[in-house]
Amino acid sequence: MSPRTDRRATGKPKGRPTSVADLRARLDRARATGAGKDAEARARRMLAAYLDTAAAHGMSLSQAAGELARGQAAVRLGDVSRDTLMQNPPRAVTEAACAEGCAFCCILQGGDGGTITEAEAIRLHDALAPLAGQPDGRGWHPAACPALDPETRACRAYDARPTICRSFISTDAEACRVNAEGGQEAGAGLLGSHLDYLAVHAMARDLLKGLARVPTYAMARVAEGAVESEDRTATLDAARHKPRALEDACRDAAKAGGR
Ligand code: SF4
Ligand code: SF4
Repeated sequence: MSPRTDRRATGKPKGRPTSVADLRARLDRARATGAGKDAEARARRMLAAYLDTAAAHGMSLSQAAGELARGQAAVRLGDVSRDTLMQNPPRAVTEAACAEGCAFCCILQGGDGGTITEAEAIRLHDALAPLAGQPDGRGWHPAACPALDPETRACRAYDARPTICRSFISTDAEACRVNAEGGQEAGAGLLGSHLDYLAVHAMARDLLKGLARVPTYAMARVAEGAVESEDRTATLDAARHKPRALEDACRDAAKAGGR
C-alpha cells in the first residue's frame, strides 16, 4: 500500500509533511510535555486556529514551520491568551504594585533569566547591541539583568523585552525585594497566560519533530552577550538551552499555577 493510500485508509497522517494542512493533521498527536492536560488542550486549540488561518492565507509549509520554530507563533498566541485574561483581570493585575524604576524582578539571582524563543532572543540582542559598553544593570546590582539602566532602573529594551518579562507581576514590591535576595515571599509570579506561551512552543517542537529545530535560549545570557559586544550568532550559540529546559519551564509554570 502506498503512503497516500495508507493515509486515507487509516485516517492518520504518515511521513514528512509537505503542506500546512499536513502539519495541521499531525496536531492531534502533538504533546506539550510538562504543561499539564489543560494547558496542552489550550495549546492544541490555539495552534489549530493558527494553522487553519495559515492554510487559509496560503502560507507555505516552510513559512509556517519557520514561525513555529522561531517562536513567533508562541509569542503571538501567548499575547492572545494574555489579552483574553485581561478582559477579566485577576487581582494580581488590578492590585499590581509594578511601576517604572521598581526593578527587583530584574535581579536574576542564580537564574538564567528564563526561557525565551529564538525570535525573542534575536529581538533582544538587536535592541541591546547598540548600547554595548554603556553602564548596565549590573552596576546597580551584581545579579541584575544587563538590559537594565543602572540609574533609572528602567528596562533599556522595553519594547523588545521577552514574554517572561511581560508576564511577571506582583502585588507586593517589598516581597519582590526580599525574593531578589533569596526570599520566598508570596505576592509575585507569572500570569497564567505565560504557561500558554510555553505550552504552544513545546507543542510546536513536538509538531515539527524531524522537520525543524525549535530552540530556546537563556534570556540573561542573550542580554549579556549583546551589551558585551558579542555578535548575535555567538550569543545565540552560547545562550541556547539544552532541549530539556523548555519541558522544565512548562513544568515549573504549571506547578506555580499562574496568576
Ligand atoms: S514584579 Fe515586583 S519588582 Fe517587578 S515591577 Fe512589579 S512590584 Fe516591582
Ligand atoms: S529584559 Fe528588561 S524587563 Fe526583562 S529582566 Fe531584563 S531589564 Fe528586566
